[in-house]
Amino acid sequence: MSVVKNNLIKIEQKFQFSNKRNLNLITPCCNKSNKNGKFVNYRELPEIYGYCHSCGKANLPPSLYKDEKGVEYIWNDVKKCFEPIVSHMYYKDVLQVYHNSVIQRDTIIKNSVIQCNTAVDNKEKTIKYVPKSIVLRCFNQTPENNLMYYIRNTYGNTNANRIKELYYIGTNKDGGTVFWNINNQGKTQKAKVSYYNLKGKRCNQFRVPYKNEDGYYSCLFGAHLIDLLENKQKVIILVESEKTAIIGAIHLPKYIWLSYGGINGLTKEKLNVLIGRKILIIPDMSKNAVEIMNKKISSLTQLGIDVNIWDMTNGKTDRQLKEEGWYNCDLEDVFRTF
Ligand SMILES: [Zn+2]
Repeated sequence: MSVVKNNLIKIEQKFQFSNKRNLNLITPCCNKSNKNGKFVNYRELPEIYGYCHSCGKANLPPSLYKDEKGVEYIWNDVKKCFEPIVSHMYYKDVLQVYHNSVIQRDTIIKNSVIQCNTAVDNKEKTIKYVPKSIVLRCFNQTPENNLMYYIRNTYGNTNANRIKELYYIGTNKDGGTVFWNINNQGKTQKAKVSYYNLKGKRCNQFRVPYKNEDGYYSCLFGAHLIDLLENKQKVIILVESEKTAIIGAIHLPKYIWLSYGGINGLTKEKLNVLIGRKILIIPDMSKNAVEIMNKKISSLTQLGIDVNIWDMTNGKTDRQLKEEGWYNCDLEDVFRTF
């Protein structure tokens, strides 16, 4: 490990050769046909990266760096500074400035996404998606909602911008905070609009502008982060509220934070994306919330999900929790005490 400025540590990336070679590609290094198989790809990376036995060049992805909290950074050659990586934006805005290979990689990724989406569409014609333009319009809406105001005030602009981009947090025209349900293929299925005061506390009202009966179904909040290359090895933490997921992602960025939105929100359809993954569920602090989760464990395990529950009540009764002021608290209240 080598330490660079800003106390960032370079992440050692291991590149393993893939067993398969793509004979149809044009080598990115010397622009030759790969009919002779001289260009070998790396495992789990886009096909643009590999080693060329013809010209002897290795085409590698850009170096990644991380800080003490685990936030990952990349060097922006135009702005001449390190920027936190926001994975899905990583391919578009941040890296366009790099070199040709990155843009080609972008194209490769886009194409593969389009292919799998088409397959899904054919099977389930009734599912509708919210156009990206609407998501971006809410993202750019000013002034920002109260929750973003609170987060900027409490955690600073760098953190605030990172999580805003990570989850595409939007602002509704009436000032509400828009939490988009974007699925693991990057398509937006639904939205929840919640209202907060300037101290980040939620009012009870919320709105769901896209309805089931019109073809809009919810998925886990943050599901779009699960299958990204850089997140594949990461542990997933599931919490009840969207805000807790966001605050968690600020405090402990080495995990992927998802929210199931409400105590009964963990349905089978939503869970499918977690199969084969390691997850930690943190229910809110009430006996009821913990019991509901405990009942779900066996069905989760049966699905092939490696699940653990972190019971923050420590076995205390609701009365004890109320007396100690912890009843119905969520993780942010815990973070606040540190
Ligand atoms: Zn070459």
